[in-house]
Amino acid sequence: MLRRYHPGMDRGTPTAGARQDPGRGDGSATIVAGRPMPAFGRIGVEPISGACGCEITGVDLTRPIAPETLAEIMLAFEHFLVIVFRRQALTPDQHRDFSRRFGELTELPQAPTYDGHRDMQEVRREAHETKNVVPSFEHFHTDSAFLERPPLCVVMRALDAPRYGGDTAFSNAYLIYEDLSDGLKNLLDQLQVVYSGKDIWAKNQKLDPDKRLRLRESHNLTEQELENIHPAVRCHPRTGRKALYVNKAYFKHFVGWNPDESLALLEYVQSLAQRLHYHCRVKWRRDTLLVWDNRFLLHRGIHDFMGERRHLVRTTVIGERPVGPKRS
Ligand code: MN
Repeated sequence: MLRRYHPGMDRGTPTAGARQDPGRGDGSATIVAGRPMPAFGRIGVEPISGACGCEITGVDLTRPIAPETLAEIMLAFEHFLVIVFRRQALTPDQHRDFSRRFGELTELPQAPTYDGHRDMQEVRREAHETKNVVPSFEHFHTDSAFLERPPLCVVMRALDAPRYGGDTAFSNAYLIYEDLSDGLKNLLDQLQVVYSGKDIWAKNQKLDPDKRLRLRESHNLTEQELENIHPAVRCHPRTGRKALYVNKAYFKHFVGWNPDESLALLEYVQSLAQRLHYHCRVKWRRDTLLVWDNRFLLHRGIHDFMGERRHLVRTTVIGERPVGPKRS
C-alpha cells in the first residue's frame, strides 16, 4: 500500500540532528513505517518490514554510548517503534542503565519479577511446559493499559530462545488509525476507554491449577490505581501524530457505551491490528535485545514452539498519561 507523506501531517519537527534521507537516488524519499526514512550516519539501520521495526548494527551496549550515537538510536526508535540489537550480553545492571536512556523504570503489579530484581520482569516457559504460563496475551495488545501512566516502552533481552518459533510480532497503531475513514476517526477521537486490571488475580484463581498464569504474588497498588480511563486515540506528546489506543487487554467498555456496543466496536478495531501490512516480526536469539514502543505499537508473543525453553527478561519504562486528540 502506498502512503504519501504530507508535510502538514505531522505537527512536530524532526528530531534535532536528523539528516535528510538519502532516498533512492532519484530525489524521492524512502517511505517506511508511514514516513520518510531518516538518514543515519553512526549506526546501521535495516528496516524489518515496510510497517515498523528495524535492526540496528554497529552498537555495543555493554560500552559507553556516544551522545550522537544515542541520538540516532532514539531517532530510529521513534521512527520504527521497535528496534532490534543482536549479540548484546548485558548484565542486569547494564540492561537497566540502557533502559534508563528511555525514561524512568517502573515495576508492574502483575508480571513476575526476574531473579530478585524488583524492577525487572521475566517471560519464561520451560521446555516441559506446553502452554503459555505468563500473562503474555496471544492477541495484539499494549501492556498494562489499566495503569494511570502505562509503560512507554519495554526493553527485552533473550537469555534463551527456541531454535524455531516463539517470535514476537508487532502491529503499527499509527498506520491502523491513519487508514480509517474520517467518519470512524471522528467517532474514535471522541471516545474514551475504561481499562481495568482489578480482576487479574481473581480470574486466575478461578482457572484449573494447571491452567493458571504465573502472576506476581504481591504489589502495592490500590484497587483504584488498577483502573483508569484513557482516550481511544492516543497522540504523541511532541509530534501530535495519532494512533489507535484500543485493544482487548484489560478493556472493559467505552465510556457511555453499553457492553454489547463496546464489544462490537472493540472486535472491529482489534481485527484491524491483524492485517499483515501493519506488522513486523522478530526472531529471538540468545542475547537479542529489543526496545519496543508500548504506546503506538501493539505486540504479541507467538506460542508456536514446543519442547524448548524460552526465557526473556525485561525492564519497563514508565510513560506519560495518555494524551487524546484536542476536542474542537
Ligand atoms: Mn505484553
